[in-house]
Amino acid sequence: MVNNLYVLIVEDHDFQRRTVVRMLHSLGIAEVMSASNGKQALALLRGTTRVDIVVCDLDMPEMDGLELMRHLGQEKHAVSVIITSAQERSLLVSVQNMAYAYGIRLLGVIEKPVTLKGLANLLARHEEPHKFQPVCVNDGEPVFSVEQILHGLQQSQFEPFFQPKMDLMSGRVVGAEALARWRHPEYGLIGPDKFIALLEQAEDIEGLTFMMLEKSAYACRMWRARGLELTVSVNLSFATLATPAFAEHITQVVRLAGLDPRHMILEITESMAMTEVAPALENLARLRMRGFGLSIDDYGTGFSSLQQLMRIPYTELKVDQSFVIDSALNPASRIIVESSIRMARQLGIKSVAEGVETQADWDTLRAMGCDFAQGYFAAQPMDERQFTEFLTSKEIILPP
Ligand code: C2E
Ligand code: MG
Ligand code: MG
Repeated sequence: MVNNLYVLIVEDHDFQRRTVVRMLHSLGIAEVMSASNGKQALALLRGTTRVDIVVCDLDMPEMDGLELMRHLGQEKHAVSVIITSAQERSLLVSVQNMAYAYGIRLLGVIEKPVTLKGLANLLARHEEPHKFQPVCVNDGEPVFSVEQILHGLQQSQFEPFFQPKMDLMSGRVVGAEALARWRHPEYGLIGPDKFIALLEQAEDIEGLTFMMLEKSAYACRMWRARGLELTVSVNLSFATLATPAFAEHITQVVRLAGLDPRHMILEITESMAMTEVAPALENLARLRMRGFGLSIDDYGTGFSSLQQLMRIPYTELKVDQSFVIDSALNPASRIIVESSIRMARQLGIKSVAEGVETQADWDTLRAMGCDFAQGYFAAQPMDERQFTEFLTSKEIILPP
């Protein structure tokens, strides 16, 4: 129960301090104390006052939150800490690591503005047995550091999930897209939005990419060995294409797993402006030469554009799901979907619609002449065993 807790709030900003004090009162906290910087807080903590939890801002005059944590750690105060801050996430993750290194019992970090729900979630953690808690942002979603992600990779906690790609004409499964998932021992299944961008920023995505390539190639080889003529699609980060030897490395890994590159499609989203254009083009040309299919992913968004279509030897165009999902209601989205499909046909490449969620979407896309569909209407991404079961079940043929 949170209402027998003694909580000290350390915040230099009057209005923000009063807001948090009010929230703590409304949660029924037994005793709420406040200090406007680390120095005042430390004086209180060194005295005889009981404090269970310190809710602490980072940037404060005289003594900031970082220094306060150093003292708390060195003096071994038996308190839990919640950090509130408006700083960027990468900084918060690094502060989290610092707090652990000082031996602080950190309940989590709340991004400002503090919400009642976020605060209540973290306060409740005080009662739980002490364990590692990644930074908690307001909604209670975990945020991981690059070190934690790489550690998980080392421990083989990552694997591909597969989502079927269906032929809109026959309703048959023609392939699968591999989507990375992290089976976290404490937090369960974690999706790519929690680790891909972080790994890309840290320029440390290669390990994940090669794990995905290898496991996906191997899975596809097994399906094919059972007589199922499927392809497998793997997502590549654009940044990795800057390494000149990348194409050869991919080819080797895929062949070693027993798959002919002709049965693998590499999906590329250009999420950033190309800085290393020449090596990327060289890698893509070589991959195509080795037989890999190349797919322009999230077509229509960001940098995934017409210019890219001209300079890269794509074999497939994936219309971004935002247009597909929206097209049931929005005529403009519908026009974008339709013209993308037509353009793909005129360019002599395949079209895939992502985010096909309903029978109506399916029918519309089919009428538009789209080749393939992927989405919750057919199936969600599944682990390898479930996907294999899906393939053998009768439901794999949808009504054409
Ligand atoms: P993406 O390649 O565009 O993948 C499609 C995303 O749409 C997947 O999200 C999939 O689960 C989701 N989706 C599928 N069908 C539906 C639907 O009917 N409705 C809706 N609303 N969503 C649907 P997921 O698995 O969270 O992946 C997100 C993104 O993360 C992927 O987008 C891809 O860009 C990236 N990603 C995933 N795995 C990898 C990887 O191994 N390497 C790299 N570099 N990126 C990856
Ligand atoms: Mg994709
Ligand atoms: Mg996409």
